[in-house]
Amino acid sequence: MIQLKNISKIYSNKNTSMTILHPTYLTINDGEILGIVGKSGAGKSTLIRIINGLIRPTTGDVFVDGVSMFSLKQKDINRMRHSIGMIFQHFNLLHSMNAYDNIKLALTIGYYRKEDINDRIYELLGLVGLTGKESRYPSQLSGGEKQRLGIARALANRPKYLLCDEATSALDQETANEIIQLLKDIQHKTQVTIVFISHQMDVIKDLCTRVIIMDNGEIIEDQPIKAMFTHPVHPKTKVLVHSLTYEKPNDVIAYELIYDQKNSGEAILSNMIKTYHVDVNILFAKTLKIQEEWIGYLYVEIHGDDLKKAIQYLKDQRIEVSLYA
Ligand code: ADP
Repeated sequence: MIQLKNISKIYSNKNTSMTILHPTYLTINDGEILGIVGKSGAGKSTLIRIINGLIRPTTGDVFVDGVSMFSLKQKDINRMRHSIGMIFQHFNLLHSMNAYDNIKLALTIGYYRKEDINDRIYELLGLVGLTGKESRYPSQLSGGEKQRLGIARALANRPKYLLCDEATSALDQETANEIIQLLKDIQHKTQVTIVFISHQMDVIKDLCTRVIIMDNGEIIEDQPIKAMFTHPVHPKTKVLVHSLTYEKPNDVIAYELIYDQKNSGEAILSNMIKTYHVDVNILFAKTLKIQEEWIGYLYVEIHGDDLKKAIQYLKDQRIEVSLYA
């Protein structure tokens, strides 16, 4: 478990000081895949680099399995960082070395016995789907393969935690999906705890079990993945969800109906129209697959004298209904 207690970061010079992170508390539980979402400049990279001991916070401390990181000496912080692997948007590979040596370098500075290193390199190549490509240099690998190699390096010393900073942002959609699937498979096999930073909600919804939203150096929402997409609380979280569903024109007053598989197959709208004599105009509909579950989003105009009762009827059928302001 990683705990952040009262972590803040302020950059100051002679004339100004800039608060990048406001006092932040966060617990990252073992075995979860935590997404950190926010637009550029929100403070995500600063936060992940503090978790990794690369940046010292202005206040507060990070506890890794109960051990205070920033009261350690630098060499002990470095040792603690062996339990934390990291992958980056631009892969951070050594271009003068082939895939085998890139992994070997990560192992040599870890704690592997010399005679085990060769086997471990081939095991890692297999884990990330690069078997047979050990002699290739980074320039001879595709973007997706480079990130696979980055993952192999990050996992070389069997870290308990894997931090991913925009790990799919430089990849096309199909390759990004492959990397997401690979990370899910690796998490399943190794139980590594993953922290995944992204500005892309669609990536988060496929990978993460829990999501925090960051804005201006603050955590504004912290929810399990399904709740994030069905009960977003903060207005900025709603905007993020709407970026994947329906961006409503300003002059339209719409209701947003969110439902899951338990509601499908029932004539709920039809019953509402017949019972409460309301008119319904469907504006837009969309389904999203959140992990393994389908969630439906329906955007409608509803008119009629019994509008309130009609909406209450939908809520009674366990449909989430809200005015899309
Ligand atoms: P994100 O990863 O969400 O894009 P960052 O953590 O990289 O955000 O940056 C948050 C803010 O901190 C940005 O406004 C950035 O310009 C600022 N920042 C990052 N590093 C430094 C630094 N070393 N000195 C001053 N400001 C910085």
